[in-house]
Amino acid sequence: MSAGTHSPPVRRLTDWDERRLCSLAARHGTPLYVLDLARVRENYRRFDAAFPEAHVMYAAKAHTGRAVLSTLLDAGADIECAARGELQRAVDAGADPNSLQYTAVNPPARDLDYAVDLAAGNPGLTVTAGARDTFDRLAERGYDGRVAIRINPGIGTGHHEKVATGKDAKFGIPREQAADVAASVRDRFDLVGLHAHVGSGVLSGDLAEHCRAIERVATTARRVGDLEFLDIGGGFGVPYREDEPPLEMGPVGKRVRAAVGDLDARLALEPGRYVVADAELILTRVNTVKRVPETTVVGVDASLATLVRPAMFDAYHPIRNVSAPDREPESVAVGGPCCTSADVFCTDRPVARPEREAVLAIGNAGAYGYELASQFHSQPRPAEVAIDGTETRLVRRREQLQDVCRVEQSPGE
Ligand SMILES: *Cc1c(COP(=O)(O)O)cnc(C)c1O
Repeated sequence: MSAGTHSPPVRRLTDWDERRLCSLAARHGTPLYVLDLARVRENYRRFDAAFPEAHVMYAAKAHTGRAVLSTLLDAGADIECAARGELQRAVDAGADPNSLQYTAVNPPARDLDYAVDLAAGNPGLTVTAGARDTFDRLAERGYDGRVAIRINPGIGTGHHEKVATGKDAKFGIPREQAADVAASVRDRFDLVGLHAHVGSGVLSGDLAEHCRAIERVATTARRVGDLEFLDIGGGFGVPYREDEPPLEMGPVGKRVRAAVGDLDARLALEPGRYVVADAELILTRVNTVKRVPETTVVGVDASLATLVRPAMFDAYHPIRNVSAPDREPESVAVGGPCCTSADVFCTDRPVARPEREAVLAIGNAGAYGYELASQFHSQPRPAEVAIDGTETRLVRRREQLQDVCRVEQSPGE
């Protein structure tokens, strides 16, 4: 039994060692991303163990940091990339290009050019496309290698209710057209797979609907026939709220397998969020405490530029005062230095009474955290340290203002 398959299915913010977090904040400054590579490994292994015969690839876009990619490659994972830069970073981290899967969504010409060049010397690379036009553009470049067809299952799960139907049509071809597209694709390429990414942030309440979408996709795969794999994408969620239960991957694996049914093709999955979300948090320092009659506003040095998910998706992230976790809780709003009312991490949240200089931890920041960080308000992006057992390593230095200005040109330059 490989280590990690019996690891806890969730890591809560309270499971992190506060003393170690405070000393990291003191040493490296704030805001600071803290990434636990051992947890990344555990999450991947637990997921992989739940799908014994399947091919599990890590969806790089959730966190494309080199430390994550090389940790997962060392653990035996393959990598799914959705952009040229992700392909290049996967290769730089040591991935065999023959093992990469490239999911092309409205791919810019330079992305397709790169993928086709990479595949020329690495015929194992697979390109997934979700529009006839993309296949035509691949053919125009002389590509005739491995491809998969992305289909649109017509059911969205997870936090998809926020996504308009018109946007859903962006991904994949309608399943009714799958057989037809497959015939034309087989003439020109080596058609090896069918692909669908059916949801995002799926927890147990969404699982029935998620499996219904998988059933549809598997039915389409049986209709198309003669495939090496059926790839059902990622979408497995983690509990962001303290009282939400985690997915039990053993039973989830069995349910997904049952939804796929008999299929003469290997199952493939592409978890992103599940692998990294609870393996990283953000440390941020309190700079302002304002107690007004209606609430207490706690100002911190992290902002929507550090973590945009609360502003972008109304996402809940747990917050803990790691400097003084045992104080009486006080109901607070926590916000950053950006001049927009969207820059709040929480409102009416009980947090152990924060005072100026306290270090707060914002949990579950590993997925779509640093990856979506920006330099809004001329803020250099934070540093990132990786811990692994007792080891600690700076894996991304803190940006300086000159990094923010680096590409600016003066007249005459
Ligand atoms: C984003 C994405 C994933 C990963 O999704 P998660 O919700 O992070 O698991 C997998 N496959 C494709 C094609 C994606 O676009």
